[in-house]
Amino acid sequence: MLDNNNASKKPLVFYVTIAMVIVFLLNAFVMPMLLAKQVQELGYSDFLQLVDKGRVTEVSLDQTNDQIVFIAKDDADQEQIYKTAVFPDDGLRERLEKAGVKFSAQIPTQNSPLVGLLVGWIIPIALFWGLGSLLSRQMGKRLGGGMNAMSFGKANAKIVAEKETGVTFADVAGEEEAKDALKEIVDFLEHPSKYAGIGAKLPKGALLVGPPGTGKTLLAKAVAGEARVPFFSISGSEFVEMFVGMGAAKVRDLFKQADEKAPCIVFIDEIDTIGKKRDTGSGIGGNDEREQTLNQLLTEMDGFDGNKGVVILAATNRPESLDPALLRPGRFDRRIPVELPDLAGREAILQVHARDVKMGGAIDMKEIARATSGASGAELANIVNEAALRAVRMGRDEVTQEDLMESVETVIAGYQRKNAVMSEQEKKIVSYHEIGHALVAAMQTHSAPVTKITIIPRTSGALGYTMQVDEDEHYLMSREELLNKIATLTGGQAAEQLVFHSITTGASNDIEKATKLARAMITRYGMSDFGMVALETLNGQYLGQDTSLACSPATSEKIDQQVVALVGEARAKADRILRENEGKLHELAAYLLQKETITGEEFMRILNSTAA
Ligand code: ADP
Ligand code: MG
Ligand code: ZN
Repeated sequence: MLDNNNASKKPLVFYVTIAMVIVFLLNAFVMPMLLAKQVQELGYSDFLQLVDKGRVTEVSLDQTNDQIVFIAKDDADQEQIYKTAVFPDDGLRERLEKAGVKFSAQIPTQNSPLVGLLVGWIIPIALFWGLGSLLSRQMGKRLGGGMNAMSFGKANAKIVAEKETGVTFADVAGEEEAKDALKEIVDFLEHPSKYAGIGAKLPKGALLVGPPGTGKTLLAKAVAGEARVPFFSISGSEFVEMFVGMGAAKVRDLFKQADEKAPCIVFIDEIDTIGKKRDTGSGIGGNDEREQTLNQLLTEMDGFDGNKGVVILAATNRPESLDPALLRPGRFDRRIPVELPDLAGREAILQVHARDVKMGGAIDMKEIARATSGASGAELANIVNEAALRAVRMGRDEVTQEDLMESVETVIAGYQRKNAVMSEQEKKIVSYHEIGHALVAAMQTHSAPVTKITIIPRTSGALGYTMQVDEDEHYLMSREELLNKIATLTGGQAAEQLVFHSITTGASNDIEKATKLARAMITRYGMSDFGMVALETLNGQYLGQDTSLACSPATSEKIDQQVVALVGEARAKADRILRENEGKLHELAAYLLQKETITGEEFMRILNSTAA
């Protein structure tokens, strides 16, 4: 364990709070206790009695409060402080002299006034002085001093030796693509000379993107574990501290340490917290601290020598919010998707976690995997654990299938994405819907090829999707391509209508997209009989596809009619294509339902088989 900077772990706010609490406690409890140790109030006659009995040793007149404070011995011969109200009594002085009592106008205290001074003033002042000097060192550091031994700007990077990550690729089930991409990095860390020899530069950073709980952190640890190199891990949220400039100092320090320990892995979890897009305009305030941290990160990434063996991994589940500067070549230019597991992946993850749990004989993990469509790796791990807990509750010493099935329900119901696990009927509808899109796309000439179809629900809310990727990037779209695209978008609902004779709410996103496209064709691309007239303008390049209308109400009405006609035409085309290929529609939907995810090749193979 090389956890080498424990001393600087606590944030300053911690020390401030402690100091405050101590001062408060001293003043509230200790002070009064020491100064006015059990001042008891007695009646005047009791006082006189005590004087006569000779138990009173000292008396003083407290004129401000109009009372007499005196010290007397109690029954146990202990001196106590008492007070009593002043009563007009001319003979008191004589009486006191007779009893041999010291008397004065000064209030007696049992303790030296030094204690009071110490507790009330000196200790708090010392505390604040100490705090102040800590703060000023802090400031010095921020202002570029950095000569101090007390380094509060040190990163909270945990340095964990290889045997402590203890994670290898064997612990990460499924995610084969991600593992393949990371194996290259492992190889680079193990044999850097091999790469340096040929002059190859490995990407400095790789970004793991995917929904929460899919094993991004686990994968990063596994890379360090496989390569047997130190693993520096820091979470983006840790950078956000109360003092300006701390974040940047931390980044600087993190990279300095990494440089010393190379080859190693620097892992920045939740990078979106510091890597959010920087504001372009808006002057006042903003988030200077975060931007400074981000700028420092960018500077450090550019600055260090990529061949030294420091690999920076980062994870995020919000890649779209990242600053484009982070994704530039030479920074996190490699993006590794870590998706929710499919059926086979879920089974594998369940198996991995079942290793640590005592399982009964007749366990069918496939059944559990089938029942957990949409669950993440973390949820699956939790399911196995919940099942084990349930087994214990039931007084058994091994986990049964029933435990697992029960815990599926408790775990999934406990999550917000309650609807992520779909019923069989819903899955069937989604299968037809997606195949509807894919079939319409495939049967048109100007459509991008289908590369993947899946009915695994996404955290974005989509219950499934059909991915189409063009062979090469292109920036222009012809009228035909746009029309085909609209037809493809309508294909989902068209399939639902054809097969189930009813439609669901699942097509809302398709409808929105189709409408936007049709509208843009008419108002912005000049692809209607309005001709080349800009009827709508974009509101700003960086504000999404927000537009404002620039035409008369009469024209606007005509535009609406044309949009309806255009989408209707596309839908009719989709209907026709699906009717003509209904056999294939059923065949493909059944296959997708069973597999959950199919590739473009599988899709084309089935589509072209027994050439109908
Ligand atoms: P993320 O960082 O993507 O949010 P984590 O890596 O923190 O997810 O995963 C949380 C836990 O879920 C892991 O510690 C592990 O127990 C389990 N887990 C997630 N994905 C997998 C997987 N592919 N294989 C095995 N376990 C997994
Ligand atoms: Mg994580
Ligand atoms: Zn759809």
